[in-house]
Amino acid sequence: MTSLLKQISCADDYDPESLSVARARQIIFDLVEPVPGSERLFVRNALGRVLAEDVISTANVPGHDNSAMDGYAVRFADLAAEGETVLSLAGTTFAGRAFEGILGPGQCVRIMTGGMIPQGADTVVIQEAARAESERITVPPRQRQGQHVRHAGEDLRAGEQAIRAGKQLRPAELGLLASLGVAEVSVKRRLRVAFFSTGDELCSLGTPLKSGEVYDSNRYTLFGMLTRLGCEVIDLGVVRDEPAALEAAFHMAAAQADAILTSGGVSVGEADFIRGLMAKLGEVAFWKIAMRPGRPMAFGRIDEGSKGAFLFGLPGNPVAVMVTFYQFVREALLKMMGVSPIEALPQFRVPCVTALKKRPGRSEFQRGVLFSEKGEWKVRATGSQGSGILSSMSEANCFIAVEPDRGSVEPGESVFVQPFEGLV
Ligand code: AMP
Ligand code: MG
Repeated sequence: MTSLLKQISCADDYDPESLSVARARQIIFDLVEPVPGSERLFVRNALGRVLAEDVISTANVPGHDNSAMDGYAVRFADLAAEGETVLSLAGTTFAGRAFEGILGPGQCVRIMTGGMIPQGADTVVIQEAARAESERITVPPRQRQGQHVRHAGEDLRAGEQAIRAGKQLRPAELGLLASLGVAEVSVKRRLRVAFFSTGDELCSLGTPLKSGEVYDSNRYTLFGMLTRLGCEVIDLGVVRDEPAALEAAFHMAAAQADAILTSGGVSVGEADFIRGLMAKLGEVAFWKIAMRPGRPMAFGRIDEGSKGAFLFGLPGNPVAVMVTFYQFVREALLKMMGVSPIEALPQFRVPCVTALKKRPGRSEFQRGVLFSEKGEWKVRATGSQGSGILSSMSEANCFIAVEPDRGSVEPGESVFVQPFEGLV
């Protein structure tokens, strides 16, 4: 770590007074490492957890050829190319209850969706196409060989990798594991993330506000974002702008956690000793990022005996906390959690119906509402864009990410959006 931060500080494009969003994201991402440790869990308890080992399919899924439709299992060779074919009904096969015999020439079997294709049959004729008169089934011409048959192993083949290590398990993976008969999986241990807010003006919930105080909202947004990501959260509360209290909080955090998130106290001029303290307790870089909101930020490592934790010192403004979390912290924590591959936030272009004020030279993350009008997706900015206006985040469903080199945006121009769905 030490040598790495040094290495970065020698790189040509490293300017802590004006670091681009992309560069800061890359530096952070490259420096963090996945944490060791795993545990075994029942499939249902593994939702949102990160798979620690590849899951190999021990059998074909499905285990046998079966029907995709309700109808009749037939031998394609029996069917006349032109004109109808009359077949005799030899039995029935339901899902879970197979027809035991072998289908002979001129025979067919009534089959239900999921029913096992009987030996000898290779094609399914859907019931709506066939005409049944007791045991005589009339099939029209122009059926396709093999139609409506789901083949053994077409979902997963025995011996094939079913789910790769590093996958964060979603409902689809829980189902896939169950379809393989897997009841227990090995998952990475949860990432432990400690966080606290700094500021003498902050008041915790449950205490009446005194003059000049504000409620500490950052710990709630951080709690929500970290929980959504699948981390174990350690809430260390509000810490006064006092060196002894802050030092104790950093020690406590580094002793328990893999990562520490703080909010406030990283801007120049504001209680400078916090910056000094962070630097004293470990190796921490302070950056001014060419972005809005969220300019000041600290990143590094706090040492605690043989252990240590990565530090993300986020700005204090409530919107800036959320923006910096999604632009820098999210991907780094996913890497620490062992997620691989890591997908960036989805981003795509849509027309912006409102004018956006912006100065070239920095990235901006404005709050937007993505909406559909006559079948076309568009975005509009939420009202006030101040970095303390948390209601703009609540109203928004996406960030409008305006590139550094761009100036103000006129209505109708296209902009990048990053939807929040599933994140915020
Ligand atoms: P700072 O970065 O500490 O200078 O804080 C910047 C602004 O964000 C100030 O207006 C603070 O009152 C506000 N702020 C800092 N921390 C929090 C917090 N945890 N909850 C709500 N507002 C905060
Ligand atoms: Mg402060």
